[in-house]
Amino acid sequence: MALSLARSLPLARNFGAVSLVARGVWVGGRRWMSSTQSSLSDIEPSELQIRETPQPKKIPSLDTLKFGHTFTDHMLTVPWTQSAGWGTPEIIPYGPLSLDPSSTVLHYAQCLFEGMKAYRDVNGRVTLFRPELNMARMNRSAQRIALPTFNGEAFLELIKQLIRLDKEWIPQEKGHSLYIRPVLIGTQNTIGISPPDSALLYVICSPVGPYYPDGFKPVALHGTTEFVRATPGGTGAYKIGANYAPGVYPQKQAAQLGYVQNLWLYGPEHYLTEVGTMNLFVVFKRDDGSLELVTPPLDGMILPGVTRDSVLSLARSHASGELRLPGLTSNLVVSERSVTMKDVREAAQAGRLVEMFGTGTAAIISPVDKIGYEGQDVTIPVEADGMGPVSRAVWTELVGRQTGAIPSDWSVVVVE
Ligand SMILES: *Cc1c(COP(=O)(O)O)cnc(C)c1O
Repeated sequence: MALSLARSLPLARNFGAVSLVARGVWVGGRRWMSSTQSSLSDIEPSELQIRETPQPKKIPSLDTLKFGHTFTDHMLTVPWTQSAGWGTPEIIPYGPLSLDPSSTVLHYAQCLFEGMKAYRDVNGRVTLFRPELNMARMNRSAQRIALPTFNGEAFLELIKQLIRLDKEWIPQEKGHSLYIRPVLIGTQNTIGISPPDSALLYVICSPVGPYYPDGFKPVALHGTTEFVRATPGGTGAYKIGANYAPGVYPQKQAAQLGYVQNLWLYGPEHYLTEVGTMNLFVVFKRDDGSLELVTPPLDGMILPGVTRDSVLSLARSHASGELRLPGLTSNLVVSERSVTMKDVREAAQAGRLVEMFGTGTAAIISPVDKIGYEGQDVTIPVEADGMGPVSRAVWTELVGRQTGAIPSDWSVVVVE
C-alpha cells in the first residue's frame, strides 16, 4: 500500500523530506516502504572496496582493555549525497575523518548511532545478536532527524565484512566481545539548518571485556527530579547524539552525591523511565504470591532497546509455558506499564519490591540496590550473587543464546 501511494506521487523526489522517507524504511527487520527513487542508489555491498592497513596494530592484552578505548585496524565508510544517493562502500584503515568545520554534525548534532556486539561463541564461530533490530532502529533514528535512510540488510552485510576482516580482534575469553558502533552524520558545509545534502555512514569496532569482571556489582541510582532525559513528543525514543550530551552533567552531579547513575524520572508523578543509558525493569511481589516484571511502555520517552525486547520476550515465553527459564517461578506476570516512585517506595516499605535492574547491550543486565530519592535512600533487595530471581534467570538464558551455548535464531552467524 505504501508503495502504490508513493508511486502515485511521481514528484516525491522533489520534496526533500518526503524523498528521504521514501528511500526505504526498515521496521522490525522488514522493509515497509521501498525505494521510489530508482535514479538514486541504495547501499550496494557488491561495490565494496577494501584497502587493508599496511601496519596492523598490536592487539592489546585483555586485562588492559578499558571499555570503548581501543579500536580495531579497520573501519567501514559509506558516503551519501542527495544527488546520487549512497556511494561506494569502503573498508579502510582506522583513522581520522576529514571534515569541514562547517559540517552540520559539528554544530547541530546531525548525528545518530547504534551499539551492537559480535560474540565468539562456544564453537569458535563469530555471531551477532538480533542485528536486524539495530538496523531498523538506526533507520528510525535517521528518519527522525532527516538523515538519509538505507537498506538495513545491505548495510548489515557490509558490517559482517568488516567483522570478518578484523575477527582476530574478537577476544576468545568468556564475557568478551567486539563492540560495534555504527554512526551516521550530516556532513553538509553550511550554517543553515535543513536536511543535509551529504552524509557519512561509518562503523568502528572496539574489543571489550566483561562489564562486571568480578561478578555482578549492583549500582546505586540517583532519582533525578531536576532534569529530564526525554519528554512526550521529544526524541528520547531515538538513538541520536543530541540525547546524550545533556545527560553527562546530571550524571556528574549524581556521582558527587555518591550515586553511580541517574534514575530518570518524569512528570509530577515521578514516573520511572530509564537508568543512565539503559532500559529499566522492576519486579514486584503481588498479593497472590506471583511476581510481576514491569518495564515502562514505549510511549515515545523510552529507547526501544534490543535487550529490553529480548528480556520481555523471554519472560513472556516463560510465563506462557512455551519456554522454561530454570530457577524462575512460572507464577510470573509480564507488564509494560507506567511505574511511579510512589509505587516503588510503597512496595519497598511493604516488602513487595523484589528487584530492579537496567538492560542494555554493553552491560546486558545491571542490578540496582539503592535509589536516592527526595533526600532518602530506597533500598532494593539483591541476593548474594548481586542479582535477583528474574534477572538471574533471564541473564542466564540471554548470555547462553549470545554465546551459542543455547542455540537460537537470535544468533546470526558472521564467521563459521
Ligand atoms: C542504547 C540504549 C538503551 C539500550 O538499548 P540496547 O539495544 O538494549 O542496547 C537503552 N536506553 C538508552 C537511552 C540507550 O541509548
